[in-house]
Amino acid sequence: MSEVLRQKVLDLLSEALTFQLNFVAPPIHVRGDGLFRVWAAVTARKIGVRVGPLPPDTAALYDKVRNEFVFLSSSFGNTYGEKAAIFHECVHAMADIEHTVARAVAEEAAAYVAELMYFRKLISGGRSARDAYGPGLEPPQAKADEIAERMLYVDGVWAVPVPDFLELQDIILRHRTYAHLTRADFYPNRGV
Ligand SMILES: [Zn+2]
Repeated sequence: MSEVLRQKVLDLLSEALTFQLNFVAPPIHVRGDGLFRVWAAVTARKIGVRVGPLPPDTAALYDKVRNEFVFLSSSFGNTYGEKAAIFHECVHAMADIEHTVARAVAEEAAAYVAELMYFRKLISGGRSARDAYGPGLEPPQAKADEIAERMLYVDGVWAVPVPDFLELQDIILRHRTYAHLTRADFYPNRGV
């Protein structure tokens, strides 16, 4: 357990809760009470936080079998991009806690949209992540940034535009980080 990183995850979730992110990316609903449950599980040490080796191209991970966040180093999470990456992993933790039944690629897409919505809140000033980071973004992040801009208000809740959300899933499946993933895969969301 890394106490420094554990505190960083808790601080980040407290901050994220003040942003009141609330949107549906079917079948996942990213919202405050779900993220609060992640905060509570980390606080109760039902979810661990540690530094460990990670696959290539990966700086942060939520391990659904061991119920822990794994980061490349204890200094991870200082830049806006790294903070947003931690938030992405929090969405995976939320899905685990809630026993979400979702195809893995849909869960990844929801996590990317959450990551970029959070990133945009952090950089503030109404700038898009594409403006702020340009070519520094990976293709799934650039598409998720676009989706963050195009969110639709439907039946009293913000929702991702479905064609763009499906396109994001295709982009994820083509990305080198997800070479192991197929469209039919599910993540093991068995609770913490
Ligand atoms: Zn992910």
